[in-house]
Order: sequence, then C-alpha cells, then structure tokens
Amino acid sequence: MRNLSDIVASVHADLAEHIGGGKVADYIPALSRVDPRRFGLAVVTCTGEHVQAGDANVPFSIQSISKVFTLTLALERVGARLWHRVGREPSGSPFNSIVQLEQEHGVPRNPFINAGALVVTDALLAGRTPKATAAEILAFLRERADDPSVSIDDEVAGSEAQTGFRNASLANFIRAFGNLKNPVAEVLDVYFHQCALSLSCAQLARAGLFLAGDGVDPLTGAVVCRPARARRVKALMMTCGHYDASGEFAFKVGLPGKSGVGGGILAIVPKQAAIAVWSPGLNAAGTSHVGALALERLVERTGWSVF
Ligand code: GLU
Repeated sequence: MRNLSDIVASVHADLAEHIGGGKVADYIPALSRVDPRRFGLAVVTCTGEHVQAGDANVPFSIQSISKVFTLTLALERVGARLWHRVGREPSGSPFNSIVQLEQEHGVPRNPFINAGALVVTDALLAGRTPKATAAEILAFLRERADDPSVSIDDEVAGSEAQTGFRNASLANFIRAFGNLKNPVAEVLDVYFHQCALSLSCAQLARAGLFLAGDGVDPLTGAVVCRPARARRVKALMMTCGHYDASGEFAFKVGLPGKSGVGGGILAIVPKQAAIAVWSPGLNAAGTSHVGALALERLVERTGWSVF
C-alpha cells in the first residue's frame, strides 16, 4: 500500500470536479444553509496515525450517524433484550418509512431506520430525564472522540423538533403497539438532540475507532463493549447503515458504514481504521454524493474491505 497520507490527499484532490454535486438536505434551515462545497476526509488508524484532508476539522451535523453510538450505549444498558423490541433485517425502505411498522406490530426492522432508532433511544431513556439522557449521549461521544469540545447544536435540535412530524408519527405509532415505554415527547426530545450532535470528520473518525478495535479503543485501551457486540454493531452498519441503499454501499465500498443527512459517513475497517467523510450534497438515497465516491476511491487505493 502507498503511504496513507498520499492516498488520502489524492482521493481528496481527485474529487474536486464532483464537489458541490448532490442536493443538500433542506428540511431544516440550519442544514440548508451549509455550503455544498464543503468536503472533509479523516482517517484514524488503530496504530494512532491521524490523516486528514480538506474540511476535516469543520464540525457538521452527524444526524443518523448518532444511531451507531446510541445503539452501542443501549446494548450496554439493556443487553440482548433490546432485540425483542427491534429487528436486525435490512428494511429495503427509506429511512423514515412507516409502512412495515403496521405489518410487524410496532417492532421496527432494524435500529438504524428512524423507527428503530426511536426504540433504541427509548431504551436509553428508561429511568432518566430527557436532559440527562442527551447529556449521557454527548458525554459518550466526547469520551470516544477524546475531545471535550464535541457539542450538540441547539438550533438544529430545535428545528428538528419543529419539523419532525414524520418522526412524531413513527413514535406515536410504535407507542400504540406498546413498544415505546416513555412519553413520546421525551423520546423525540432526546432523538432530536442526538441527531444534532456536531462533530468534525477528525472527531468522528476518532469516535468510531473503538469499533475498529472490536470494542476496545486501540489508542487508550478503554473497554467500550465486548468484541461480539462491536462486531454485531458493524454487521448492522453493513446490512442496514444506508437504508434502502445499503446493498449498493456494501457492493461499492465493502465496509460497514453509517450515513447521515448532514452529509457525513462513518466507515469502519475492522482491526485497522475508522474513516469519516463529509460533504453535504446528498444522492437520491440520502447519502453524501461526494462522500460515497471518496470512500469508493479510498478502498480501491488502500485495498481495505471486509470481503
Ligand atoms: N434527523 C433526520 C431524521 O430523523 C435524520 C435522518 C438521517 O440522517 O438519515 O429525519
């Protein structure tokens, strides 16, 4: 393999002509205002190499990438019982789809579609206030990123709440089946705050590194979860991390990954590295257009793949 810094720099440079492509999420003002020409790329390896290019230090809204972290926390909290309340199958439907919920009696297909993420957030809320739960999620991200400056963007959280009718429908529907235990308003409050977590590519790659280390942070030795659990989170990222475009991502990138409508993608190379890319323009599946292309080139040049 060529030197990792050269590869990252070449991937960034090669995508110049694509920058600005795709459509920036416009369902809330704070996201629609983001400059579509932003493009950052960061890799942190299990041996402690930090490599980055472009806007890798600019914080962005990680949105649904937060679901990877809340799933890890919830599994640590309630263990395998969580799987009675949420499935593990790819949905083949868009991120905010409600249709399967009726057929499947309020048990969402997987923890990464919005319906499933709401159930995971509900599990985290048990016995806590929404404020304490959001604070716990934030503390987890700060610890994993090894950076106390990681924050939640309150403007984004507020706008999510004002426009989150679809998420409110999902939550109410699940509650009607008894699969949410806490008040709908509280679950939504925490969910909107986790979506509003703001991290740069450099922080996000660092935060995801424990998954590359099979549950152990390779740089500090901190044990986050046991290896089997980390592997299962990665399995779900591979099969469900990009909603109805998960097959395409597995085919083209071949790594477990999770997208967010803010234009970020976190991808994990087991035992080797965590990668974060960010560019706000989205493709039809709601995944960063340039970010997905960057990951394709990066794996081509590094040879990284779980296959
Ligand atoms: N805040 C978005 C929602 O819940 C997140 C979706 C995503 O990032 O895929 O609708």
